[in-house]
Amino acid sequence: MTVASDSDDLQNPDLQLTRRSARPAGTVVTVRGIEIGGSGLVIMAGPCAVESEDQLLATARAVKAAGAHILRGGAFKPRTSPYSFQGLKEEGLRLLARARDETGLPIVTEVLDVRHVELVARYADILQVGSRSMQNVILLEEVGRSGKPVLLKRGMSATLDEYLSAAEYVMSNGNGDVILCERGIRTFEPSTRNTLDLNAVPMLQRRSHLPVLVDPSHGTGHAWMVARMACAGVAAGADGVLVEVHPDPASALSDGEHALTPDEFAVMASQLAAVGLAVGRSMATSRRGVETAPEVAR
Ligand code: PEP
Ligand code: MN
Repeated sequence: MTVASDSDDLQNPDLQLTRRSARPAGTVVTVRGIEIGGSGLVIMAGPCAVESEDQLLATARAVKAAGAHILRGGAFKPRTSPYSFQGLKEEGLRLLARARDETGLPIVTEVLDVRHVELVARYADILQVGSRSMQNVILLEEVGRSGKPVLLKRGMSATLDEYLSAAEYVMSNGNGDVILCERGIRTFEPSTRNTLDLNAVPMLQRRSHLPVLVDPSHGTGHAWMVARMACAGVAAGADGVLVEVHPDPASALSDGEHALTPDEFAVMASQLAAVGLAVGRSMATSRRGVETAPEVAR
């Protein structure tokens, strides 16, 4: 196996902070005792959108029982159509905080706009910047100053250079806790929602020191493909996965077509553990042991 060379790092001389040689040992982002980018694999799971207390709590309990480390759920949703469900907004954030209090799972949720960074940061453990916002440089600067770890998803038509430049915006505003997430790119193939670019995993890890996740939910758009592509992501060296889970995908207000049921999620989690073992990674465990201390939203 070759190691990153200076010429890789210097493909883009502006990638001063994100490039591998800036931190050769790699970045580990620690969130409430969970290490992302450490030796263990991390699973982030939850619904596309927070829809109700029942829906979120049922999902949170189920994914926790099956081994998830972090709960995801959109409160502010970037929908393609203005007529689609846009999320519960602050009420969604409150429900996420309640789910964290009950399960101990840290929460990751998307921030869509600079006007909401302070609000979302009051509730979230990790701020997600979505694919559609990857080049919103003002938002990148603002989350860079937020003091919260940032999960930065790859733009659906972004090159890896553009992607790392977006991460550089966050880092150059004082925030070293950036997690990358390959979520599929637009190609000429219409049978899947996107094409999960697994090449990106080893390439990003070679060029950068930041943790890299894969999102096989948006990356495929089909629930039946998610577990296999999650396993493929781990086999490719990803530090973990981000997947959408819903207690009743058929009734989901967004992205039901690729949501896993809790049972399907549990099967996927055990498959990931097996693939992890094959590539020398075990599942992450909390450094705080069982995380129970609730933290009420400020
Ligand atoms: C999401 O994960 O909630 C999401 C909207 O994904 P993406 O930004 O990758 O489309
Ligand atoms: Mn979704």
